[in-house]
Amino acid sequence: MKETERLIEFITPKPKAKKNKAPSVATLKRWMNDGGCETPCGCWVEPDGYCEHGKPSWLLLMGLI
Ligand SMILES: [Zn+2]
Repeated sequence: MKETERLIEFITPKPKAKKNKAPSVATLKRWMNDGGCETPCGCWVEPDGYCEHGKPSWLLLMGLI
């Protein structure tokens, strides 16, 4: 039983992977109100900007601006 639990833990995606998941519309609206936007790597940039890793903001990526 213990071994099975360990295996399940091993194959289950880790929570930090959800950083790359597209944000909800509510989150995007909140970011726009804040005057910025996050990128898939978690950086904070201008709504139409790119971060130091070359990643576009989610608003750009999703074609919203
Ligand atoms: Zn970045």
